[in-house]
Amino acid sequence: MNEKDLELLGLLQEECAEVIQIVSKIRRFGLDSYNPYEPEKGNNQTLFEHEVGDVFLIIDLLKERGLLHDDAINDRMIWKRVKLEEGGIIPKRKSMVEFLMEPGNNPFLEDDVWDWIERDRRLNNISCDIKEELQHPTTSDPDNRRKYLLRQAAAIYAELETLSESEKENED
Ligand SMILES: [Mg+2]
Repeated sequence: MNEKDLELLGLLQEECAEVIQIVSKIRRFGLDSYNPYEPEKGNNQTLFEHEVGDVFLIIDLLKERGLLHDDAINDRMIWKRVKLEEGGIIPKRKSMVEFLMEPGNNPFLEDDVWDWIERDRRLNNISCDIKEELQHPTTSDPDNRRKYLLRQAAAIYAELETLSESEKENED
């Protein structure tokens, strides 16, 4: 490992330690509190964002030098989110259709499309089943898994066919 890489890793250590320090302050005194000896530096909220920003920058620099890779990081983030959801630390994320079903979340949908989505929640159920299967496979056999996912994909296709046929009938 060359000098530059080692230097960046050292900076990452330092900046992570600074995040730990400010998080400790926030847990003890809250986000609005500030150091009475250095009020010009801002409150804990500001310092928190500064230190997290410092860490993000070092992470970007490590990526630029090829020491970190977005794909691997993103995969891990997805995995970790699921673990936190399972542990009840964070609420389970809504599917895209569930999200769009909520008032105010569908500004780009015309009313008739909105009705169309509302009429048929089966698509949503199928996509939830697929998501569940991807996150918690019921079988470790890749062949069985593939068959299951293909069946679900076929079910979605069938639903879309039925709906487009009924739309065509409406047009006629
Ligand atoms: Mg810093």
